[in-house]
Amino acid sequence: MPSETMASPEVKVSITASHDGGNIEVISKSEPVVSGRTAKVTVTVHIKPDVYTEFESRAHSQYFSFRSFVSGLHSSNSGGEGDDGIKLITVQYVVANARSVSFPEAWPGYTVCYTSGSLEPCDDDSWRRNLATRYVDGKLIWEHVHAANGSTFFSYSPPYTYGRHLKLIADCSARISARGGSLERYDPVVESLGQTLEGREIECISIGNGKLAAWIQHRQHPGETMAEFFAEGFLHRLFGVGKDGELDETTKKVLDQYRLHVIPNMCPDGSVLGHLRTNSVGANLNREWATVPGHEDYEAPTLRRSPEVHAVLSKMDEIGCDFFLDVHGDEDIPYVFFSGAEKTPAWGDRLEHLHGYFISCYQRANSDVQKEIGYPPPDSADDALKYMNVATNQISTRFNCLGLTLEMPYKDCETNPDPANGFSLERTKKLGANLMDALVDVHPYLRAEGQFWRAFSKEDGYVIPTDNYKEQGFVMLKKRFYSDVRPHDA
Ligand SMILES: [Zn+2]
Repeated sequence: MPSETMASPEVKVSITASHDGGNIEVISKSEPVVSGRTAKVTVTVHIKPDVYTEFESRAHSQYFSFRSFVSGLHSSNSGGEGDDGIKLITVQYVVANARSVSFPEAWPGYTVCYTSGSLEPCDDDSWRRNLATRYVDGKLIWEHVHAANGSTFFSYSPPYTYGRHLKLIADCSARISARGGSLERYDPVVESLGQTLEGREIECISIGNGKLAAWIQHRQHPGETMAEFFAEGFLHRLFGVGKDGELDETTKKVLDQYRLHVIPNMCPDGSVLGHLRTNSVGANLNREWATVPGHEDYEAPTLRRSPEVHAVLSKMDEIGCDFFLDVHGDEDIPYVFFSGAEKTPAWGDRLEHLHGYFISCYQRANSDVQKEIGYPPPDSADDALKYMNVATNQISTRFNCLGLTLEMPYKDCETNPDPANGFSLERTKKLGANLMDALVDVHPYLRAEGQFWRAFSKEDGYVIPTDNYKEQGFVMLKKRFYSDVRPHDA
Protein backbone atom coordinates (compact mmCIF):
# COMPACT_ATOMS: atom_id res chain seq x y z
CA MET A 1 0.00 0.00 0.00
CA PRO A 2 1.35 3.43 -0.85
CA SER A 3 1.95 5.57 2.18
CA GLU A 4 -0.44 8.47 2.56
CA THR A 5 0.88 9.63 5.87
CA MET A 6 3.01 12.43 4.53
CA ALA A 7 2.79 15.99 5.83
CA SER A 8 -0.95 16.28 5.11
CA PRO A 9 -2.54 12.85 5.17
CA GLU A 10 -5.76 12.35 3.32
CA VAL A 11 -8.86 11.90 5.46
CA LYS A 12 -10.53 8.59 4.76
CA VAL A 13 -13.91 7.12 5.59
CA SER A 14 -14.03 3.38 5.12
CA ILE A 15 -17.20 1.31 5.51
CA THR A 16 -17.32 -2.37 6.38
CA ALA A 17 -19.98 -4.86 7.47
CA SER A 18 -17.55 -7.68 8.07
CA HIS A 19 -18.42 -8.17 11.78
CA ASP A 20 -20.90 -10.92 12.52
CA GLY A 21 -24.39 -9.60 12.18
CA GLY A 22 -23.08 -6.98 9.74
CA ASN A 23 -25.24 -5.97 6.78
CA ILE A 24 -24.60 -3.17 4.31
CA GLU A 25 -23.55 -2.58 0.74
CA VAL A 26 -21.68 0.62 -0.16
CA ILE A 27 -23.13 2.25 -3.27
CA SER A 28 -21.05 5.43 -3.45
CA LYS A 29 -18.87 7.85 -1.53
CA SER A 30 -18.59 11.50 -2.49
CA GLU A 31 -15.29 13.39 -2.66
CA PRO A 32 -14.67 15.34 0.57
CA VAL A 33 -15.73 18.99 0.46
CA VAL A 34 -13.19 20.85 2.56
CA SER A 35 -13.87 24.10 4.34
CA GLY A 36 -11.08 25.35 6.61
CA ARG A 37 -10.18 22.46 8.88
CA THR A 38 -13.47 20.58 8.41
CA ALA A 39 -14.71 18.30 5.66
CA LYS A 40 -18.01 16.83 4.50
CA VAL A 41 -18.66 13.52 2.79
CA THR A 42 -21.81 11.69 1.73
CA VAL A 43 -21.84 7.91 1.94
CA THR A 44 -24.70 6.14 0.15
CA VAL A 45 -25.49 2.57 1.17
CA HIS A 46 -28.04 -0.17 0.54
CA ILE A 47 -29.50 -2.64 3.01
CA LYS A 48 -28.90 -6.16 1.70
CA PRO A 49 -32.01 -8.36 1.55
CA ASP A 50 -32.33 -11.72 3.29
CA VAL A 51 -32.37 -14.88 1.20
CA TYR A 52 -35.71 -15.12 -0.66
CA THR A 53 -38.58 -16.51 1.46
CA GLU A 54 -40.56 -19.01 -0.57
CA PHE A 55 -43.56 -19.05 1.79
CA GLU A 56 -44.13 -15.30 1.57
CA SER A 57 -42.82 -14.88 -1.98
CA ARG A 58 -40.45 -12.07 -1.06
CA ALA A 59 -36.98 -11.23 0.20
CA HIS A 60 -37.17 -9.48 3.57
CA SER A 61 -34.97 -6.58 4.63
CA GLN A 62 -34.78 -3.74 7.15
CA TYR A 63 -31.95 -4.68 9.53
CA PHE A 64 -28.54 -3.15 8.83
CA SER A 65 -25.29 -2.86 10.74
CA PHE A 66 -21.96 -1.43 9.65
CA ARG A 67 -18.69 0.02 10.89
CA SER A 68 -17.43 3.36 9.68
CA PHE A 69 -13.68 3.77 10.07
CA VAL A 70 -12.22 7.25 9.90
CA SER A 71 -8.51 7.95 9.54
CA GLY A 72 -6.30 10.92 8.70
CA LEU A 73 -7.90 13.45 11.03
CA HIS A 74 -5.57 15.84 12.84
CA SER A 75 -6.76 16.28 16.39
CA SER A 76 -6.28 19.87 17.58
CA ASN A 77 -3.09 19.15 19.47
CA SER A 78 -1.49 16.57 17.17
CA GLY A 79 0.03 18.79 14.52
CA GLY A 80 1.37 21.63 16.53
CA GLU A 81 2.36 24.95 14.99
CA GLY A 82 1.23 25.38 11.39
CA ASP A 83 -0.90 22.25 11.27
CA ASP A 84 -3.69 22.85 8.80
CA GLY A 85 -4.93 19.23 8.58
CA ILE A 86 -8.61 18.31 8.73
CA LYS A 87 -9.84 18.27 12.36
CA LEU A 88 -13.29 16.82 11.93
CA ILE A 89 -15.40 15.31 9.23
CA THR A 90 -19.18 15.31 8.94
CA VAL A 91 -20.47 12.25 7.16
CA GLN A 92 -23.98 12.15 5.81
CA TYR A 93 -25.17 8.55 5.67
CA VAL A 94 -27.93 7.81 3.18
CA VAL A 95 -29.73 4.44 3.08
CA ALA A 96 -30.97 4.85 -0.47
CA ASN A 97 -33.18 1.76 -0.64
CA ALA A 98 -35.07 2.35 2.63
CA ARG A 99 -38.37 2.49 0.77
CA SER A 100 -38.10 -1.09 -0.44
CA VAL A 101 -37.69 -2.77 2.98
CA SER A 102 -40.24 -5.06 4.63
CA PHE A 103 -41.81 -2.34 6.81
CA PRO A 104 -41.15 1.08 5.22
CA GLU A 105 -44.09 2.52 7.17
CA ALA A 106 -42.00 1.93 10.31
CA TRP A 107 -39.20 4.43 9.44
CA PRO A 108 -40.90 7.64 10.65
CA GLY A 109 -40.01 8.04 14.31
CA TYR A 110 -37.05 5.66 14.08
CA THR A 111 -33.59 6.88 15.16
CA VAL A 112 -30.38 5.07 14.22
CA CYS A 113 -28.25 3.44 16.95
CA TYR A 114 -24.52 4.19 17.10
CA THR A 115 -21.50 3.63 19.28
CA SER A 116 -17.81 4.42 19.10
CA GLY A 117 -17.22 1.61 21.56
CA SER A 118 -16.83 -2.04 20.72
CA LEU A 119 -19.45 -4.77 20.44
CA GLU A 120 -18.29 -6.27 23.72
CA PRO A 121 -20.76 -6.62 26.59
CA CYS A 122 -19.02 -4.02 28.72
CA ASP A 123 -19.75 -1.39 26.07
CA ASP A 124 -23.55 -1.84 26.13
CA ASP A 125 -24.09 1.55 27.73
CA SER A 126 -22.19 3.35 24.98
CA TRP A 127 -25.03 2.96 22.42
CA ARG A 128 -26.89 6.17 21.65
CA ARG A 129 -29.55 7.36 19.20
CA ASN A 130 -28.98 9.82 16.40
CA LEU A 131 -31.96 12.12 16.95
CA ALA A 132 -31.58 13.78 13.56
CA THR A 133 -32.35 10.52 11.72
CA ARG A 134 -35.08 11.16 9.14
CA TYR A 135 -36.97 9.37 6.41
CA VAL A 136 -37.17 11.60 3.32
CA ASP A 137 -38.25 10.63 -0.19
CA GLY A 138 -37.82 6.94 0.50
CA LYS A 139 -34.34 7.39 2.00
CA LEU A 140 -33.17 7.04 5.59
CA ILE A 141 -30.67 9.83 6.31
CA TRP A 142 -28.52 10.99 9.22
CA GLU A 143 -25.30 12.94 9.77
CA HIS A 144 -22.53 12.05 12.16
CA VAL A 145 -19.63 14.28 13.12
CA HIS A 146 -16.47 12.19 13.41
CA ALA A 147 -14.09 14.24 15.55
CA ALA A 148 -11.51 11.51 16.12
CA ASN A 149 -9.87 8.76 14.11
CA GLY A 150 -11.29 5.32 14.71
CA SER A 151 -14.47 3.37 14.28
CA THR A 152 -18.14 4.04 14.85
CA PHE A 153 -20.79 1.34 14.48
CA PHE A 154 -24.19 2.25 13.05
CA SER A 155 -26.92 -0.31 13.44
CA TYR A 156 -30.68 -0.71 13.06
CA SER A 157 -30.46 -2.21 16.53
CA PRO A 158 -27.26 -3.08 18.44
CA PRO A 159 -25.87 -6.43 17.21
CA TYR A 160 -25.88 -9.37 19.58
CA THR A 161 -22.87 -11.17 18.13
CA TYR A 162 -22.28 -14.90 17.92
CA GLY A 163 -19.24 -14.42 20.16
CA ARG A 164 -21.48 -12.92 22.79
CA HIS A 165 -23.97 -15.74 22.30
CA LEU A 166 -21.19 -18.28 22.99
CA LYS A 167 -20.17 -16.31 26.06
CA LEU A 168 -23.75 -16.37 27.35
CA ILE A 169 -23.86 -20.14 26.98
CA ALA A 170 -20.43 -20.44 28.62
CA ASP A 171 -21.45 -18.19 31.53
CA CYS A 172 -24.49 -20.38 32.25
CA SER A 173 -22.37 -23.52 31.94
CA ALA A 174 -19.76 -22.08 34.29
CA ARG A 175 -22.42 -21.42 36.95
CA ILE A 176 -23.64 -24.98 36.57
CA SER A 177 -20.19 -26.48 37.04
CA ALA A 178 -19.13 -24.09 39.82
CA ARG A 179 -18.02 -26.02 42.86
CA GLY A 180 -20.36 -25.96 45.80
CA GLY A 181 -22.84 -24.12 43.64
CA SER A 182 -26.44 -23.85 44.75
CA LEU A 183 -27.80 -24.88 41.37
CA GLU A 184 -27.19 -28.61 41.55
CA ARG A 185 -30.52 -29.36 43.18
CA TYR A 186 -32.31 -27.76 40.22
CA ASP A 187 -30.78 -30.24 37.76
CA PRO A 188 -29.44 -27.70 35.24
CA VAL A 189 -28.59 -28.94 31.74
CA VAL A 190 -27.18 -27.15 28.70
CA GLU A 191 -27.75 -29.18 25.58
CA SER A 192 -27.95 -28.83 21.83
CA LEU A 193 -31.29 -29.84 20.33
CA GLY A 194 -29.71 -30.12 16.90
CA GLN A 195 -27.72 -28.15 14.38
CA THR A 196 -28.64 -25.44 11.92
CA LEU A 197 -28.03 -25.78 8.18
CA GLU A 198 -24.69 -23.96 8.62
CA GLY A 199 -23.74 -26.25 11.50
CA ARG A 200 -24.36 -24.05 14.53
CA GLU A 201 -25.84 -25.63 17.66
CA ILE A 202 -29.40 -24.89 18.72
CA GLU A 203 -28.72 -24.59 22.44
CA CYS A 204 -31.38 -25.11 25.06
CA ILE A 205 -30.81 -24.42 28.74
CA SER A 206 -33.06 -26.38 31.11
CA ILE A 207 -33.29 -25.94 34.86
CA GLY A 208 -35.81 -26.28 37.71
CA ASN A 209 -37.65 -28.85 39.83
CA GLY A 210 -41.22 -27.73 39.22
CA LYS A 211 -43.95 -29.77 37.60
CA LEU A 212 -44.85 -27.21 34.94
CA ALA A 213 -42.77 -26.91 31.77
CA ALA A 214 -42.15 -23.32 30.66
CA TRP A 215 -40.55 -22.72 27.26
CA ILE A 216 -39.02 -19.36 26.46
CA GLN A 217 -37.49 -18.87 23.04
CA HIS A 218 -35.82 -15.87 21.46
CA ARG A 219 -34.80 -14.41 18.15
CA GLN A 220 -36.70 -16.53 15.65
CA HIS A 221 -36.25 -13.36 13.61
CA PRO A 222 -32.50 -12.78 13.75
CA GLY A 223 -32.57 -9.02 13.10
CA GLU A 224 -34.65 -8.63 16.27
CA THR A 225 -31.44 -8.53 18.28
CA MET A 226 -33.20 -7.12 21.36
CA ALA A 227 -34.68 -10.57 21.83
CA GLU A 228 -31.29 -12.02 22.74
CA PHE A 229 -30.44 -9.10 25.02
CA PHE A 230 -33.74 -9.96 26.72
CA ALA A 231 -32.59 -13.61 27.00
CA GLU A 232 -29.34 -12.45 28.57
CA GLY A 233 -31.21 -10.41 31.20
CA PHE A 234 -33.37 -13.39 32.05
CA LEU A 235 -30.56 -15.98 32.08
CA HIS A 236 -28.22 -13.80 34.13
CA ARG A 237 -30.87 -13.53 36.83
CA LEU A 238 -31.73 -17.21 36.54
CA PHE A 239 -28.11 -18.29 37.03
CA GLY A 240 -26.94 -15.50 39.30
CA VAL A 241 -24.35 -14.44 36.69
CA GLY A 242 -22.37 -11.49 38.01
CA LYS A 243 -23.64 -12.23 41.53
CA ASP A 244 -21.39 -15.14 42.30
CA GLY A 245 -24.24 -17.53 41.62
CA GLU A 246 -26.39 -15.97 44.33
CA LEU A 247 -30.08 -16.46 43.47
CA ASP A 248 -32.81 -14.13 44.69
CA GLU A 249 -35.94 -15.48 46.41
CA THR A 250 -38.20 -15.01 43.37
CA THR A 251 -35.82 -16.96 41.15
CA LYS A 252 -35.69 -19.79 43.70
CA LYS A 253 -39.50 -19.86 43.70
CA VAL A 254 -39.59 -20.09 39.91
CA LEU A 255 -37.13 -22.97 40.05
CA ASP A 256 -39.41 -24.79 42.49
CA GLN A 257 -42.51 -24.10 40.39
CA TYR A 258 -41.24 -24.85 36.89
CA ARG A 259 -38.79 -26.69 34.77
CA LEU A 260 -37.63 -23.94 32.42
CA HIS A 261 -36.40 -24.51 28.87
CA VAL A 262 -34.69 -21.45 27.44
CA ILE A 263 -33.49 -21.10 23.85
CA PRO A 264 -31.50 -17.87 23.66
CA ASN A 265 -31.22 -17.87 19.87
CA MET A 266 -33.51 -19.79 17.53
CA CYS A 267 -31.80 -18.53 14.38
CA PRO A 268 -28.02 -18.25 14.86
CA ASP A 269 -27.33 -18.59 11.11
CA GLY A 270 -29.52 -15.64 10.20
CA SER A 271 -28.00 -13.71 13.12
CA VAL A 272 -24.45 -14.09 11.84
CA LEU A 273 -25.56 -13.35 8.27
CA GLY A 274 -27.15 -10.05 9.29
CA HIS A 275 -30.66 -11.11 8.22
CA LEU A 276 -33.88 -9.50 9.36
CA ARG A 277 -36.26 -12.45 9.40
CA THR A 278 -34.81 -15.64 7.93
CA ASN A 279 -32.29 -18.43 8.35
CA SER A 280 -29.60 -19.16 5.75
CA VAL A 281 -32.03 -20.66 3.20
CA GLY A 282 -34.71 -18.00 3.51
CA ALA A 283 -37.07 -19.68 6.00
CA ASN A 284 -39.03 -17.26 8.17
CA LEU A 285 -39.01 -19.54 11.21
CA ASN A 286 -42.16 -18.02 12.64
CA ARG A 287 -44.09 -19.38 9.64
CA GLU A 288 -42.63 -22.88 9.96
CA TRP A 289 -44.51 -24.39 12.92
CA ALA A 290 -47.15 -26.20 10.84
CA THR A 291 -48.48 -26.75 7.36
CA VAL A 292 -51.44 -24.39 6.92
CA PRO A 293 -54.61 -24.28 4.81
CA GLY A 294 -54.01 -22.79 1.39
CA HIS A 295 -50.34 -23.86 1.49
CA GLU A 296 -50.77 -27.64 1.65
CA ASP A 297 -47.81 -28.13 -0.68
CA TYR A 298 -45.56 -26.20 1.70
CA GLU A 299 -44.79 -28.75 4.38
CA ALA A 300 -43.43 -27.32 7.64
CA PRO A 301 -41.32 -27.71 9.60
CA THR A 302 -38.75 -29.72 7.62
CA LEU A 303 -35.16 -30.71 8.34
CA ARG A 304 -34.09 -29.37 4.99
CA ARG A 305 -35.57 -25.89 5.43
CA SER A 306 -36.30 -25.29 9.12
CA PRO A 307 -34.31 -27.71 11.30
CA GLU A 308 -34.41 -25.11 14.12
CA VAL A 309 -38.18 -25.38 14.46
CA HIS A 310 -38.17 -29.11 13.81
CA ALA A 311 -35.72 -29.68 16.67
CA VAL A 312 -37.51 -27.50 19.21
CA LEU A 313 -40.98 -28.77 18.38
CA SER A 314 -39.82 -32.40 18.66
CA LYS A 315 -38.40 -31.69 22.10
CA MET A 316 -41.57 -29.93 23.20
CA ASP A 317 -43.66 -32.90 22.07
CA GLU A 318 -41.43 -35.11 24.19
CA ILE A 319 -41.50 -32.92 27.33
CA GLY A 320 -44.79 -31.04 27.08
CA CYS A 321 -45.47 -27.35 27.56
CA ASP A 322 -47.51 -25.46 30.16
CA PHE A 323 -46.31 -21.93 29.38
CA PHE A 324 -44.80 -20.55 26.20
CA LEU A 325 -43.18 -17.19 25.46
CA ASP A 326 -41.74 -16.26 22.06
CA VAL A 327 -39.60 -13.12 22.23
CA HIS A 328 -39.48 -10.68 19.29
CA GLY A 329 -39.06 -7.04 18.27
CA ASP A 330 -41.48 -4.89 16.28
CA GLU A 331 -40.25 -2.38 13.71
CA ASP A 332 -43.14 0.01 14.00
CA ILE A 333 -44.94 0.22 17.31
CA PRO A 334 -43.04 2.19 20.01
CA TYR A 335 -44.29 0.07 22.91
CA VAL A 336 -43.62 -3.24 24.61
CA PHE A 337 -46.64 -5.42 23.86
CA PHE A 338 -47.92 -8.98 23.61
CA SER A 339 -49.97 -10.88 21.14
CA GLY A 340 -51.61 -14.16 22.03
CA ALA A 341 -53.41 -17.07 20.46
CA GLU A 342 -56.65 -15.15 20.00
CA LYS A 343 -59.37 -17.03 18.11
CA THR A 344 -57.29 -20.17 17.60
CA PRO A 345 -58.97 -23.48 18.56
CA ALA A 346 -57.48 -23.32 22.07
CA TRP A 347 -58.68 -19.78 22.81
CA GLY A 348 -61.58 -19.38 25.23
CA ASP A 349 -62.38 -18.01 28.68
CA ARG A 350 -59.47 -19.79 30.29
CA LEU A 351 -56.69 -18.61 27.95
CA GLU A 352 -58.21 -15.16 27.64
CA HIS A 353 -58.10 -14.65 31.41
CA LEU A 354 -54.63 -16.17 31.74
CA HIS A 355 -53.40 -13.87 28.99
CA GLY A 356 -54.80 -10.74 30.65
CA TYR A 357 -53.59 -11.78 34.09
CA PHE A 358 -50.06 -12.61 32.95
CA ILE A 359 -49.61 -9.21 31.31
CA SER A 360 -50.92 -7.47 34.44
CA CYS A 361 -48.41 -9.38 36.58
CA TYR A 362 -45.61 -8.41 34.20
CA GLN A 363 -46.75 -4.79 34.21
CA ARG A 364 -46.60 -4.70 38.01
CA ALA A 365 -42.96 -5.81 37.78
CA ASN A 366 -41.96 -3.55 34.88
CA SER A 367 -43.66 -0.34 33.79
CA ASP A 368 -42.51 -0.68 30.17
CA VAL A 369 -45.24 -3.33 29.81
CA GLN A 370 -48.77 -2.35 28.77
CA LYS A 371 -51.74 -4.17 27.27
CA GLU A 372 -53.82 -1.64 25.32
CA ILE A 373 -51.57 -1.25 22.28
CA GLY A 374 -50.55 -4.08 19.98
CA TYR A 375 -51.65 -6.03 16.92
CA PRO A 376 -55.40 -6.29 16.52
CA PRO A 377 -56.49 -9.93 16.84
CA PRO A 378 -57.69 -11.81 13.76
CA ASP A 379 -61.27 -11.21 12.63
CA SER A 380 -62.45 -14.78 12.90
CA ALA A 381 -61.54 -18.32 13.87
CA ASP A 382 -61.11 -19.09 10.16
CA ASP A 383 -58.67 -16.23 9.83
CA ALA A 384 -56.70 -17.51 12.84
CA LEU A 385 -56.40 -20.97 11.26
CA LYS A 386 -54.31 -19.47 8.46
CA TYR A 387 -51.72 -18.58 11.09
CA MET A 388 -51.30 -21.89 12.84
CA ASN A 389 -47.73 -21.85 11.46
CA VAL A 390 -46.93 -19.03 13.93
CA ALA A 391 -45.26 -20.46 17.06
CA THR A 392 -47.60 -18.95 19.66
CA ASN A 393 -50.73 -20.18 17.87
CA GLN A 394 -49.33 -23.63 17.25
CA ILE A 395 -47.96 -24.18 20.76
CA SER A 396 -51.01 -22.77 22.59
CA THR A 397 -53.29 -25.05 20.62
CA ARG A 398 -51.06 -28.09 20.62
CA PHE A 399 -50.60 -28.04 24.42
CA ASN A 400 -53.73 -26.11 25.43
CA CYS A 401 -51.46 -23.72 27.30
CA LEU A 402 -50.91 -20.01 27.75
CA GLY A 403 -48.72 -18.87 24.87
CA LEU A 404 -47.65 -15.34 24.05
CA THR A 405 -45.47 -13.43 21.63
CA LEU A 406 -43.60 -10.58 23.28
CA GLU A 407 -42.74 -7.63 21.04
CA MET A 408 -40.19 -4.97 21.99
CA PRO A 409 -39.69 -1.70 20.11
CA TYR A 410 -36.83 -0.76 17.81
CA LYS A 411 -37.77 2.82 18.59
CA ASP A 412 -38.28 4.38 21.98
CA CYS A 413 -40.73 2.80 24.43
CA GLU A 414 -43.28 5.53 24.88
CA THR A 415 -44.62 4.31 28.21
CA ASN A 416 -41.36 5.73 29.62
CA PRO A 417 -39.94 8.01 26.92
CA ASP A 418 -36.15 8.39 26.68
CA PRO A 419 -35.34 9.70 23.19
CA ALA A 420 -31.53 9.88 23.58
CA ASN A 421 -31.28 6.17 24.39
CA GLY A 422 -34.51 4.74 22.98
CA PHE A 423 -35.52 1.35 24.31
CA SER A 424 -31.97 0.81 25.55
CA LEU A 425 -30.08 -2.43 26.10
CA GLU A 426 -30.28 -1.83 29.84
CA ARG A 427 -34.08 -1.64 29.68
CA THR A 428 -34.24 -4.66 27.40
CA LYS A 429 -32.20 -6.77 29.82
CA LYS A 430 -34.25 -5.53 32.75
CA LEU A 431 -37.45 -6.56 30.99
CA GLY A 432 -35.90 -10.00 30.54
CA ALA A 433 -34.99 -10.22 34.22
CA ASN A 434 -38.54 -9.20 35.23
CA LEU A 435 -40.07 -12.14 33.38
CA MET A 436 -39.16 -14.04 36.56
CA ASP A 437 -41.63 -11.99 38.62
CA ALA A 438 -44.50 -12.55 36.20
CA LEU A 439 -43.77 -16.30 36.06
CA VAL A 440 -44.10 -16.62 39.84
CA ASP A 441 -47.43 -14.80 39.91
CA VAL A 442 -49.13 -16.61 37.03
CA HIS A 443 -48.00 -20.08 38.13
CA PRO A 444 -50.97 -21.03 40.38
CA TYR A 445 -53.42 -20.55 37.50
CA LEU A 446 -51.67 -22.06 34.48
CA ARG A 447 -53.26 -25.49 34.98
CA ALA A 448 -55.98 -24.52 37.47
CA GLU A 449 -59.45 -26.02 37.04
CA GLY A 450 -62.78 -24.25 37.14
CA GLN A 451 -63.38 -20.53 36.91
CA PHE A 452 -60.22 -19.50 38.74
CA TRP A 453 -60.41 -16.05 37.15
CA ARG A 454 -63.27 -15.10 39.44
CA ALA A 455 -60.52 -14.25 41.91
CA PHE A 456 -58.92 -11.73 39.50
CA SER A 457 -59.61 -8.03 39.75
CA LYS A 458 -61.09 -6.07 36.86
CA GLU A 459 -57.74 -4.52 35.94
CA ASP A 460 -56.31 -8.00 35.38
CA GLY A 461 -58.74 -8.66 32.54
CA TYR A 462 -57.97 -9.21 28.87
CA VAL A 463 -57.90 -6.07 26.71
CA ILE A 464 -58.32 -6.26 22.94
CA PRO A 465 -55.21 -4.51 21.67
CA THR A 466 -55.30 -1.80 19.04
CA ASP A 467 -52.59 -0.33 16.81
CA ASN A 468 -54.58 2.90 16.48
CA TYR A 469 -52.55 4.49 19.25
CA LYS A 470 -52.30 8.08 18.07
CA GLU A 471 -55.50 10.03 18.29
CA GLN A 472 -54.53 12.90 16.00
CA GLY A 473 -53.01 12.51 12.58
CA PHE A 474 -52.44 8.81 12.96
CA VAL A 475 -52.37 6.94 9.72
CA MET A 476 -53.96 3.59 10.40
CA LEU A 477 -51.49 0.89 9.59
CA LYS A 478 -52.33 -1.58 6.94
CA LYS A 479 -53.74 -4.14 9.29
CA ARG A 480 -50.91 -6.41 10.25
CA PHE A 481 -51.20 -9.58 12.20
CA TYR A 482 -48.23 -11.15 13.95
CA SER A 483 -45.82 -8.86 12.10
CA ASP A 484 -47.31 -10.20 8.92
CA VAL A 485 -46.09 -8.69 5.73
CA ARG A 486 -48.71 -7.67 3.22
CA PRO A 487 -48.11 -6.03 -0.15
CA HIS A 488 -47.80 -2.33 0.60
CA ASP A 489 -50.92 -1.18 -1.18
CA ALA A 490 -53.10 -4.22 -0.74
ZN1 LIG B 1 -40.34 -11.15 15.00
